[in-house]
Amino acid sequence: MIALYIFLCLTALIVLIFIKKVIQLKKGKEKADTQLAGMTFTKFSSPGSVKQLSILPLVDYYTDNVDLKTEPGVSYLVKADDTTILLDVGFNKKKEHPSPLLHNMKTLKVSENDPDMIFISHAHLDHLGGMKEQKEKTFSLSQGPVNLSNIPVYSPVNIAASSWNPGPETKIITEPTILKDGIASIGVIPRFLFLMGHTLEHSLAINVAGKGIVIIIGCGHQTIERIIERTQMIFDEPIYGIIGGLHYPVNGGRIMLGPINIQRIVGSDKPPWVSIRETDVKSAIAAIKKVSPKVVALSPHDSSDWAIDRFKQAFGDTYVDVKVGKEIVI
Ligand SMILES: [Zn+2]
Ligand SMILES: [Zn+2]
Repeated sequence: MIALYIFLCLTALIVLIFIKKVIQLKKGKEKADTQLAGMTFTKFSSPGSVKQLSILPLVDYYTDNVDLKTEPGVSYLVKADDTTILLDVGFNKKKEHPSPLLHNMKTLKVSENDPDMIFISHAHLDHLGGMKEQKEKTFSLSQGPVNLSNIPVYSPVNIAASSWNPGPETKIITEPTILKDGIASIGVIPRFLFLMGHTLEHSLAINVAGKGIVIIIGCGHQTIERIIERTQMIFDEPIYGIIGGLHYPVNGGRIMLGPINIQRIVGSDKPPWVSIRETDVKSAIAAIKKVSPKVVALSPHDSSDWAIDRFKQAFGDTYVDVKVGKEIVI
């Protein structure tokens, strides 16, 4: 009898929390949409350009190299002429030292001193280096000391470097900003997600001379449609490449709780019974095709094999796999 009572109380509590979350989602979505509607920007007058660009995935879900570690997180080493950018710092789900990121850096002969700047796409655990980091609003390359130089960190929200790797100083980016000649943030695009709440994310945009803008994306919660819209709002140049996470855990996911596809629920601005669907992937492909990029590469950390297959079919030779250790040269 007591067991039944406890069960009924727990069920009622879960139902109440669920209803509260659904109400919060409706209100939060309206707030994020209003915030976005107020964000209009003029084009960069002189964004500058770079001659060479390469993207080396240091952390992601797949690799062909057995000496490298994988996980459902993101860290990319972006080299634009003589500037090296560390975009996000992985997940480190098992709280290791060295983390998968440090292990892969060492294996790929990337030094902790190589980056000139750190670009944090958004403050989610799979990009900040862990759950603790997300809760405490910090980021860590590993769960142990890392000799990071005093380089700038560009983030859409106020996060501090963890005690493991003090030194870098965070600069909050909200609007489209030129970070260095040819290298920019497209500025924050807000979105309210079920469970994860109000999420501010920005992406890196690099203008490659004679080619166009290569957009490098963390999780892609903004939606690719809005990322493209923002990029066209601030640049005259055509979109040449779209690389990174777009969050399509459809018909499969990378973080499962039993049969529940966690990524599909937490990363959506729709209630769980709608969530992210096949039609969203089709819409994304249609939106990307409209701008005819020459390089399309979807991160497997937050998209399913099903979604990746759809992209491969849609983009053919234009499609490039995102795999740890496999450099994408533009
Ligand atoms: Zn992610
Ligand atoms: Zn995320």
